[in-house]
Amino acid sequence: MADDFIVSLTDLRRTPGARRPLSLEASCAEALGAGLVSLPPGRLVAVTGSVESVGDGVLVDARVETVMDAQCSRCLVEFSWPVDIEFQELYVYPEQADDYAEEDVSFIHSDAIDLEPVIRSAVIVEQPLIPLCRPDCRGLCPQCGVDLNADPDHHHDDDIDSRWLGLAAWGKMS
Ligand SMILES: [Zn+2]
Ligand SMILES: [Zn+2]
Repeated sequence: MADDFIVSLTDLRRTPGARRPLSLEASCAEALGAGLVSLPPGRLVAVTGSVESVGDGVLVDARVETVMDAQCSRCLVEFSWPVDIEFQELYVYPEQADDYAEEDVSFIHSDAIDLEPVIRSAVIVEQPLIPLCRPDCRGLCPQCGVDLNADPDHHHDDDIDSRWLGLAAWGKMS
C-alpha cells in the first residue's frame, strides 16, 4: 500500500491556475512516531483540500485528520489523540530542481506527487512531548502506583514522606 498517498496530476495538464479538489483516505505502512504518541500502521488518515497548478509545479493546500494512540505521561492511561492540521506544500517539476536546490520543497515524479512524507513531518511536529490525558491529571501515587485521578484523597500513613516523594516525581515528569 505504498502508493496510498500518491496523487496523479495528469488532469491538471500543467495549466497554471488549474485547480482541483483533493480528497483521499489512506494509511501509512510504517508507524509514525514512537514512545507516548504514535500513529499505528494501517490507521486511516483523511486528507482534504486542493491541488493547484502553478508556474513551476503544484501547490497543495491540505487538511489532515486522524487519531493517534497516546499514553498519559503521568498516569499511563491510554487515550486517543485527535490530529487536525493543515499544511501547504509546493511540489516542483523535476526539471526545475536546480532553481529550488536551496528551498524546502518537494518534487513531482512521473506527473504525480506523494503526500506521505509531508504528512508525516507535519503530523510529527504537532505531537506533544509530554502528553497528558487531561491538563490536571494527578498521576500515580509514587509510593504504591495507585491512580490518583480515581482516588484523589488517597494517602499513606507516613503522609509527610509521601508528599515529598510526590513532589519529586512531579518535578521529573512536568
Ligand atoms: Zn493521566
Ligand atoms: Zn499510594
